[in-house]
This record gives sequence, structure tokens and C-alpha cells, in this order.
Amino acid sequence: MILDFVTKYVKISYEISAIFFDLVAISFMHMKIWEKGEKTTKVFRYMAYCILLWTLNEVINPVVMDKIPDAGLGRYFCLLVDSLQFFWGDVALFFFIIYLENYTDFKSIKWLRQLYIMIIVVATAVIFINPITGWLFTYYGLDEGYEKGPLYGIVGYFPAILFGATALYLYVTYFKQLLMRERVGLLSTILMIFAGATIQPALNGRLKITGLFASYGLFILYLALETSDYLGRMSAKAKLEEAQEIAASANKAKSTFIANMSHEIRTPMNAILGINDLILKDSKEEKIISYAKDMKRSGDSLLTIINDVLDISKIEAGKMEIQNRPYHLSELVDELVYDAQEKAKAKRLDFHVSVDENLPNYLVGDKEHLGQVVRNVLDNAIKFTRRGYVRFEVNGGIRGDLLHLVFMVADSGIGIKEEDLEKVFTNFGRVDMERNRSIEGTGLGLSLCQKIMTLLDGIITVNSEYGVGSTFTIELDQYIEKFESIQKFRREYGRFNPMTQKFKSAEKRKFLVVDDNEMNLKVAEAFLESSGAEIITENDSVVAFSMLQKEKYDLVILDDLMPRLTGPTILTRVRRGNGMNKETPFIIMTANSTETDKKGYLEKGFDGFVGKPIKEEKLIEAVNNFIVS
Ligand code: ADP
Repeated sequence: MILDFVTKYVKISYEISAIFFDLVAISFMHMKIWEKGEKTTKVFRYMAYCILLWTLNEVINPVVMDKIPDAGLGRYFCLLVDSLQFFWGDVALFFFIIYLENYTDFKSIKWLRQLYIMIIVVATAVIFINPITGWLFTYYGLDEGYEKGPLYGIVGYFPAILFGATALYLYVTYFKQLLMRERVGLLSTILMIFAGATIQPALNGRLKITGLFASYGLFILYLALETSDYLGRMSAKAKLEEAQEIAASANKAKSTFIANMSHEIRTPMNAILGINDLILKDSKEEKIISYAKDMKRSGDSLLTIINDVLDISKIEAGKMEIQNRPYHLSELVDELVYDAQEKAKAKRLDFHVSVDENLPNYLVGDKEHLGQVVRNVLDNAIKFTRRGYVRFEVNGGIRGDLLHLVFMVADSGIGIKEEDLEKVFTNFGRVDMERNRSIEGTGLGLSLCQKIMTLLDGIITVNSEYGVGSTFTIELDQYIEKFESIQKFRREYGRFNPMTQKFKSAEKRKFLVVDDNEMNLKVAEAFLESSGAEIITENDSVVAFSMLQKEKYDLVILDDLMPRLTGPTILTRVRRGNGMNKETPFIIMTANSTETDKKGYLEKGFDGFVGKPIKEEKLIEAVNNFIVS
């Protein structure tokens, strides 16, 4: 009997095999452990059921058409089965579009989806009434066959073509977003469905293969994108990406918080240290001077801590920028020696300096960060040495156009136990606390040094004998810009000593200083006094702006963040207008004092830059540039 059936309905044999395909795919689908709420999987399931029903429909169709009664409900049923295949195809394609949407970031347009559902509803209505109206087709029995009705084209082809085109459009538009496996899987499915739907009509229905091809497509899609191991991998990947995103944004939030906090702390510190400097400068009373000196020491070390924390959080957020620029080695060495000498003198330590005078002077590198590291190590050497000496050596060897630069800092201090040597480079890695308790510090300095040296492609190492002394070595390669030895410049060391600088005489000049913080104004005014210029201060940004409209100044120093008008806004307005201060040099005075910040201000049009807390020498340096004698 089966044999009879098969030989009789040979043209549906492909579709029968397709049913097996579909059943296998669907049972695989049900066997896997799904992730709840996995959207693509749910839609895939609906699509699979549609294709199964579509194929079943194709198989049943010739059987029922064969047995079609002349009239009544039976006839209606048989004709309905015959036309329902249009319905399954449309719905399967509709689900395929939704499935594709989930692989792209195409935000399904609501009205488009509703329109497509409407089209399906209307087509379905026509299908259901077709046995009565014959709008789709009329069936005249096996011999005479079909006659197409007036709506055949619209209902039979239009939705399928529209849905197919939409799928293809999505695929092409979002091609770049798809993984290779998704590209291949989805395209094969589109092609398979399309092939089945065109070949069958082309063969005039002699072969029934639409369901078979759709099932092939389904199977390919299943193997490509819906097997549980692949889905598991993808969902693990998605979870990992999400976790990474959360971690990155948390880290960013942390760094921003720390950066803001440091900024907020630095601004009042500016005032405290500045006023303290004024006390040191003006007071004649020994007791007061000694208090002020203590305050300066603690203030400076608080500032170091703030800066270290800020720098470490920056490095951890990957935001510290290394800027390689030409610099003079003599200048760097001189700055370091000058600072260290003062501190060593205050502790009555011998400070020996030895610089290889054949080293080239013109180098390219990040002088600021390198200086920060060496300064930190020199400060430590002085800090952890009670008596004896600190020795600072600068040596190097030339290889091609690279200088292998070596800084060595040796001291006769307390030394570090061998088991502690590793720890000194870790965050908060303070060691030997019984002996060190009285020495101020956080244990951040060396950890920061090591991190910076890694960024600079260099290394920092330590050798130490407990109770005898320590030697820190900092090594890195620097590009040589010009082979001219440092020797010549030794005589000029003094030139770079910042404190030997004085204001150029600015008598009869008028400077305007604007800051919303009265303390800062006082500090700036006191520093600027020795230039001889007339110093006008203003703490209201709006008043300051109107002053700039009315009077000509020789130099304007602006704070950045002020209520109502910020420094940069004032500058932009002045420069945009045609007032008398259009050409006046403007200096920004701000606690945002990284190299990147500085560059940003100069790009905004500022002519000079002074970091907060204001250091007298930095102010002198910045202001002198604009005093033309
Ligand atoms: P801090 O100096 O703020 O404590 P550092 O990170 O600079 O932090 O140093 C970490 C620790 O390494 C110090 O607390 C100290 O115990 C040890 N150390 C650093 N330099 C020296 C030195 N020259 N001699 C002895 N111990 C040192």
C-alpha cells in the first residue's frame, strides 16, 4: 500500500523526505537546554514549525486534491488545504525577517511589522474564502486543473517577494555586523528558500520541492547558528563582553571620581600653600616662621600624595599619556640636582653629583615623567637617610642614535631587608614599619615610578643592604636629537635654576587677575607684586568681562572654572569681539595641570599656562614671556 502511495504520488517524494529533515531539526532543537529568553531561538522554533507545516501541506495536497468531492464541506476543505501553502510560506518568511533582525541592530520599525502582519491577515482571509469566491484560483478537477483568479498574483507572490526582499535588504545592509558563520548560515537559508520557491513554479508544479528547499535552509541555519554548543559559546561571549563593559565603565567612573576629588582638594591647597609662602616671606617672627615651615612640609607631602593617587588612577585607567619631545638633558639634571641639593642640605647630608660629561645633551623623550621618577627616588634617598651621603650619578652608552641613559641614586640610609625588596614597588608597599614610622609617606611613590618606567619602556631596580644603604637604578633608552655633549652646558646649569629667575621689570604695566577664590587672588597678587606692575584683581567673572571691555590691560591671568563665566569663555568672547584687549596675552591659571590639559588650553587660544597650586617660579616663567622691555 505504501508502495502504491509512493508510486502514485511520486512528485511529492522529496517533500516527504523534507518532513523527516524538519522533524530531525525540531527534535534536536527540543533536546538542547535552552537559555530562557533567548530570542533568536524562540523565533527559530516558530519558523521551523511553519516550514514543517508548509511541507506537510505540500504532501497532503495532492492526496486531498485527488479525492476531492464534488461539493459541500469536503470540497471546501480540500481547496483550502490546496491554498494554505501560500500562508505557511508567508508566515515562515515573516519569522525569518524577525530572526534576522535579532542578528543586527536594526530596530524593527513597529509600523512595518504591523503592516506585514496586516498583509498576512488579508492574504489569509482571501485564502479562506477562495474555495467559495475563486478569487485565488478555481479547481476544475484532475483533467482540467487550475484556473488563476484575479487575486492570484497579489496573494500568491506579492507577500513572499516583499518579505524575501526585506530579508535580503537586512542581510546586505548589516552584512558588516555579522560574523562569518552568520553570514554563511543566513545567506544559505535565504538562497534555499528562494530556490525552492522559484524552481517549483518554473517546473509547473511537476516537482514539489518548495518545502524540501525550505527545510534544507532550516537545517543549515540550525547547524550554523542554533546548535547548543554554538549558542552557549555566543552567550558566554556576550556575557563576557557585558562584564567587560561594566568593569570598564566602573573603572572609568572610579578614575573620574578620583580625578575630580584630587582637583577639588588641590584648589584649596593652592590657597593654603600660597598663603603659607606669604607668611614665610613676610614674617620676621622666628616662631611663626618655624610653624609655617612645618606647614609647608606637610602641605607639600599632602600634595605629593594627591598627585600620586591621581597619577596611579590615571595609569590604571590607561589615560596617562607619554609625550616624547625634544629636551635638554642638562636642564633635566639641573632641575633634579637643584631640588635634591636643597633638601639634602636641610638634613645635613653630603650630596655628591657625578654626571658623565660626554653624554649627548639634545634628547627626545618624556622629560616630565622621567624627571618625576628620578625626583621620587632622590627624595626617598634623602628621606630614608639620617646621616652620611646621597650620591647621584648620570651615565650612559650610545647605541646608534639611541642613548642608553642610566640614573643611579645611592644612599647611606637605613637600607631595605632582602625579603622586602620586592614589596617596595607595590601599591602602599611600605616596609620595615618599626623603623620607618616617623617618616612620612604612603608607599605609592615607587609603585608609581615602576608603572611610569614601564610606560617609558625602561626599568627601575634596587639593590640594598639593610642598615648600610640602598642603590636605585633607573635605565631607559632616549633618542639622540643632536650629538653635542652635555659638557658645554655645565656652566649653564645655573641658568635653569628656576629660583634664580626674577620677574622682568613691568613697571607702568597693568595686569588683571581673575579668580573666584579670594585666597588665590591674594597669593597671585603677592607673587606678582615684585614685577612692579599694577595688579588689579577681580573675583566676579562677569564684572571682569565688563572690565575687559572698558580698559586695556598688558596681561590677563584667568582662572578656569568660575561661576557664570569660565576663563576660556571670557577669552573666546574677548577675542571674538573688537574690544581693546583683543591682542592682550592671556594666561590660564588652573588645577587641571597635566600635559594634555595644558595643550588643550593653548589650543583654545591661551598664550600661557600656570598650574595650581601656584609656584612662584612657574608664575615668573609664564609672565616673563609677555613682558617686553
Ligand atoms: P613612601 O616613600 O611614600 O613610603 P615609596 O613607594 O616611595 O613610598 O617607597 C616604599 C617603601 O620603600 C618606603 O616606605 C620605604 O620603606 C622603602 N624605601 C624606598 N626608598 C628607600 C631608600 N632609599 N632607603 C630605604 N628604604 C627605602
